[in-house]
Parts: sequence; C-alpha cells; structure tokens
Amino acid sequence: MHRTVTSAPRRSLLVAGGGIPGLALAVALKKAHGSALEIVLCDPSLNAGATRHRGRAFAVAAGGRRMLQQLGIWERIASAAQPIRDMAITDSRLTDPIRPTFLTFSRDGTEGPDDEPFAHMVEAEPFVDALIAAASEAGILLEPVGITAASTAGSEIRAALSDGRSVGGSLLVAADGARSRLREAAGIGWVGWSYPQSGIVATIGHERDHGGRATEHFLPSGPFAILPLVPGRDGGHRSSIVWTERAADVPALLGGAPDEILAEIERRFGLNLGRLSLEYGPNAHPLAFGIARSFRAERVALLGDAAHVIHPVAGQGLNLGLASAAALAEVVTEALRLGLDPGAGDVLRDYERRRRFDTLAMAAATDGLNRLFSNDRLPLRLARDLGLGLVERLPPLKRLFIGEAAGLRGEQPRLLRGEAL
Ligand SMILES: Cc1cc2nc3c(=O)[nH]c(=O)nc-3n(C[C@H](O)[C@H](O)[C@H](O)COP(=O)(O)OP(=O)(O)OC[C@H]3O[C@@H](n4cnc5c(N)ncnc54)[C@H](O)[C@@H]3O)c2cc1C
Repeated sequence: MHRTVTSAPRRSLLVAGGGIPGLALAVALKKAHGSALEIVLCDPSLNAGATRHRGRAFAVAAGGRRMLQQLGIWERIASAAQPIRDMAITDSRLTDPIRPTFLTFSRDGTEGPDDEPFAHMVEAEPFVDALIAAASEAGILLEPVGITAASTAGSEIRAALSDGRSVGGSLLVAADGARSRLREAAGIGWVGWSYPQSGIVATIGHERDHGGRATEHFLPSGPFAILPLVPGRDGGHRSSIVWTERAADVPALLGGAPDEILAEIERRFGLNLGRLSLEYGPNAHPLAFGIARSFRAERVALLGDAAHVIHPVAGQGLNLGLASAAALAEVVTEALRLGLDPGAGDVLRDYERRRRFDTLAMAAATDGLNRLFSNDRLPLRLARDLGLGLVERLPPLKRLFIGEAAGLRGEQPRLLRGEAL
C-alpha cells in the first residue's frame, strides 16, 4: 500500500531523473513560479552526488550557455567552463604521416552570429553539483528515489516511488534516460538501433596549452575528438577526448597496460600538444541512435535522452535536451500564467510541435555525419573532403554551420535566447 508524501496541490510538477536536462527544467520552472508551483524531482542516484559523473565533460553550445546564465547557473560553473574558440577538422587514415586540416572554425569577427564562443567545454561533476545546489536553494523537493510507475485519474497523475510512497501532480516529466522505464510504462514506442561503435571517454593531460582549440580527427573507425578543458587543480593543461571505435576492437584497445593504452591514444591524438598523460578513464560507452515515436502521453512529457539518443559526433545530445527543457518550461509557463492546466493535452502537443522537427533534423544529421566519415571508401573520402574544402572557402556557409552548432538558428525558446521565461 502507498503512503502519500504530498497532498498534491493543484499545480505541482513531478520530474523523474536528475540528469542535466531534468534539473535544468526544474530550476527554470521553480525560479519562474516560486511557491505557485511545487516541484518534486526524484532520482535514485541523487544520494551518490555528482561524483558518479567524474571524467565526463560536455560541449555546451552558446544557446545552452545563455539559458544557464539566465537561470543563475552559469556564474556557478563559469570557472570550470573552457571556451572553444577555434575548431579544426581533419580526415585521414590512422597510418597517414600527416593529417591535412580541411576545415577550421574560429572567432575572427567574420564568422558566427556574434563574438561569443560557439561552445564551452564543461565537466559534468561541477555542472551537476551546481544544478543540484541551485535546485535545493530554489525549494525543489529532491527525493533520492526512483519513480516506478504512474497512473492518471482526472487532472492528476500519481507516481509510485521506489520506497513505497506516492506523489501526485499535474504533469510528470520523464527525464529518466535512454532506457526510460516511464516512457515504456506510458506506452510510447521507440525507433532505434545500436551503432557497431563505442564512445571512449578520457581526460588527457598534455605539456602545451591547447589555446581553446577543439580538434576532430575523422578516422575510418570513427571520429576522435580532442576537446579543451580548463587547467587542472595543479594548473596542468588538459583536454577531454571522445574516441569512437569499432565496438569489437575496444576490448583489445583498452585491455592493455596503461602505457599501451596511452600509446594508442597518442597515435590518434598526435604530439602537437607535447607529451600526454592519462588523467581519468578511459571509459567506453555503447553508442546508439533512438527517437521516441511521440514526446508525450497523457500527463507525461519526455525529456532528454528519454526522448532521443544521438551519436556524439557533434556533441549535441545534451544540447538537444537543454533546448527541450527550455521549450517545455515555456509552454508550462504560458499555461500557468493563463491559469490553465500545465499537463493538459494541448500544452504537451505544443511542446512536441516545438521540439520534434529540430530533434529529428539533428538526429538525422549526426547519423549521416557518422556514416559519411566512419569509413575508408575512396569515392566517399573524395566527396567529403571536397565538401569540407568548399565550406572552408565559403564564409556564409561556414556561418550557417556555426549558427547550427551554437544552437542559435531557427525558432528558439526564450531561455535559449537568454531571455527570462
Ligand atoms: C561518449 C558521449 C559523449 C557525449 N558528449 C556530449 C557533448 O559533448 N555534448 C552534448 O550535448 N551531449 C553529449 N553527449 C550526450 C549526453 O551525454 C546525453 O544526451 C545526456 O547526458 C542525457 O542526459 P539525461 O539526463 O537525459 O539522461 P541521463 O544522463 O541518462 O540521466 C537520467 C537520470 O535518470 C535517472 N533515472 C533513471 N530511471 C529513473 C526512474 N525510474 N526514476 C527517477 N530517476 C530515474 C538516472 O539515475 C539518471 O540520473 C554525449 C554522449 C556520449 C555517450
């Protein structure tokens, strides 16, 4: 039998999942509505704190940064955020003696929407710590338990918690990750597949300063990204790598002694930044593509990886989640300000309408990019190198790509434009 935790005031919101999109949504809505909206955020891993994210880092696009600034989160993490000022893309085989750079993006005043960096690299640990602190200070009820089931009755959805209690609200946001149990429980289908690749993540120390440059080497087994981080506690230069490899080759690559693993990293990383050291990892993540058939069910909205999982080739998965959090916060706010039910069908339809096309477009683009580059077929190599060369020589096309990567193109929710809800 379930005991009741809250007496479910008319306007309360339940969030399942304390990843970055779930926490950002909760903070945005609590800041906008204060005591008029009770928010309960449940995640069984909340007790473990942010240490479980150690070694992960994200490229946060300019739109996401503006949103975090508006929410007062950015000032908490700014010192841990490394601006990406410059980006270089190469396309070669692992054995090629030199890797010609086909495309560069930089801030020289002629490219990009304005002078702000198109992305920052932020380590996950301080990022999640800052969001949890902001959520707690804002008065969000943080429950270190899972939501195991949910059922609707009239204008309420009731969620069963893993400790036997239950909690009610107008809307349940399922931000419970790629294998979302709540998406399944709501009967929402999933279209997806696994890539025959793994994403290996590690933090690398190096002798020389990266100067804010990100590099992506497109190699036949997949992209190898070098992403600049702020200096470590000892002042040492560091970068994060996201190394895509054929999944079948990963045990052999990562099964050796640390110096053998480092030698494999060096073959791909190059020696431009001097001698390398392994600071954290490597950890391999299976890679998949997936998109929910719908982003909503009765009084349920999907958010983050629960709605979409994409290849990390362009570092956009979390950015899509932040954009969706901004759009969901906006439609819920519009409903609340009009005295309407934030979990009503037309509010959730509006959320889906605002996010579905962008999400599908980004999912298809990242899938296409990975397929185009993760191979060694000569005609494809020639075509893509020609394409990269063309973009390099055409500033308007380059500006278009930078705008997309920065998350600043198209119809953006207010928070992504840096405006209050
Ligand atoms: C190798 C790699 C590199 C990446 N790099 C980037 C990048 O540079 N930039 C970028 O934008 N994106 C990147 N991504 C994508 C990014 O990691 C994800 O999109 C993002 O972490 C998804 O966040 P989420 O909160 O939706 O899901 P998750 O991070 O999976 O969080 C889900 C949360 O839900 C909780 N939960 C699960 N079940 C329940 C339940 N029943 N009740 C309550 N809580 C529950 C879990 O404990 C967890 O905390 C990368 C991905 C990979 C694999």
